[in-house]
Amino acid sequence: MNTVDLITLYRSKDITETWKSAQSLEVINHPQHGLISPNKYRAMFHGKPCPYCGQKMKHGNEFKTNLKKKAIELGYQYIDKQGEKYINNVAGSCFFHPNYVTLDHKLNKARFPEKLFDYDNLQIMCWRCNHEKGDNNAFDIQHTYQYLDALAEETLERYQVL
Ligand SMILES: [Zn+2]
Repeated sequence: MNTVDLITLYRSKDITETWKSAQSLEVINHPQHGLISPNKYRAMFHGKPCPYCGQKMKHGNEFKTNLKKKAIELGYQYIDKQGEKYINNVAGSCFFHPNYVTLDHKLNKARFPEKLFDYDNLQIMCWRCNHEKGDNNAFDIQHTYQYLDALAEETLERYQVL
């Protein structure tokens, strides 16, 4: 899939379908692994910590279910930032572990369709963090700020000013 084809995608439905239909195709040019599929890219992060929340990420069939009841039993439901009960799912048909590996587009895919499969525009994070990020393009910098703020607070607590 080349950039010219991608840039002609305007409707968000087309963009989402293009992304979904390419999940098993070798469309990402990874600097170490060469051309890999989004699925393979995600699978490499099973058991690794999410760069945002630090939770161990999950990947594979044993971390998803088609039944909402089962998902709740498995503890996949959580309270999100809006205070709502939430379960990660795709079109209501498949429910995922909260820390399932996702591939996020740094620059929103609806606004930058030509960067849909661009390695530099992709970042790994768990589904819960991805849900909280939403379309917030400042998520990364806000997260860094929160981290530094917490670090400063911790430092002040440990090393009190004399
Ligand atoms: Zn996370």
